[in-house]
Amino acid sequence: MRDAVAIVLAAGSGERLGLETPKAFVPIGGRPMLARAVGSALACPRVGLVVVAAPAGAEDLAHAIVEPFGAHAVVTGGPTRHASVRAALAAVPDETASVLCHDAARALATSDLFSAVLEALAGWDGVVPAVPVSDTVKRVRGEMVVGTESREELALAQTPQAFSASALRDAHARAMEAGLEFTDDAAALEWAGYRVRTVPGEPANFKITTAEDLARAERSIEEAVRG
Ligand code: C5P
Repeated sequence: MRDAVAIVLAAGSGERLGLETPKAFVPIGGRPMLARAVGSALACPRVGLVVVAAPAGAEDLAHAIVEPFGAHAVVTGGPTRHASVRAALAAVPDETASVLCHDAARALATSDLFSAVLEALAGWDGVVPAVPVSDTVKRVRGEMVVGTESREELALAQTPQAFSASALRDAHARAMEAGLEFTDDAAALEWAGYRVRTVPGEPANFKITTAEDLARAERSIEEAVRG
């Protein structure tokens, strides 16, 4: 049953990559990150529609990249990630019960991860894939270490994240009213008092931000192809 809609956020400029092309259009292993992200989303048997937030002026290019994968809509992203999510949410059909939010910059997430977060959503408002923190985490002010966090309670959040559509819409509307911006969607739900759980994330599902990340992603795709 294709009962979920996936929002794929691709409207970032990718300044930290140091390239002219918006990040989501940069190829890894010969395919744009956006194609990989949307391909994985629509390969999940529960996803019936993908809404892509594209950079202003690059909507047609986004459409051309996504077209071969199936049902999709393209909206113009906003100046912040939150604004892009809100623009995409406006294009999610009203009757949709579950919405996934996924960063195109996590181009290596598998379709199994989309399925896992959706499955875990039963009885919860939101689901976040998370990986444990293996390093010791310091709180630092300037150069000075002012504390050491308890690693047992820390986890690194990934996307795709799954949400009850009504909770996601409500949390984003309230965050906007309060003038708050969060770095992921789960944070908006947590702030709004909703219940968010984790499922195991995928170690290979890192966010591609820098040129080093891009090289790492290329290597990991080559390794997968070689088997
Ligand atoms: O900049 P950062 O890597 O944290 O962005 C995470 C994701 O959000 C990326 O996939 C990026 O394309 C998207 N984004 C967006 N609209 C913005 C900023 C970022 O869709 N204004």
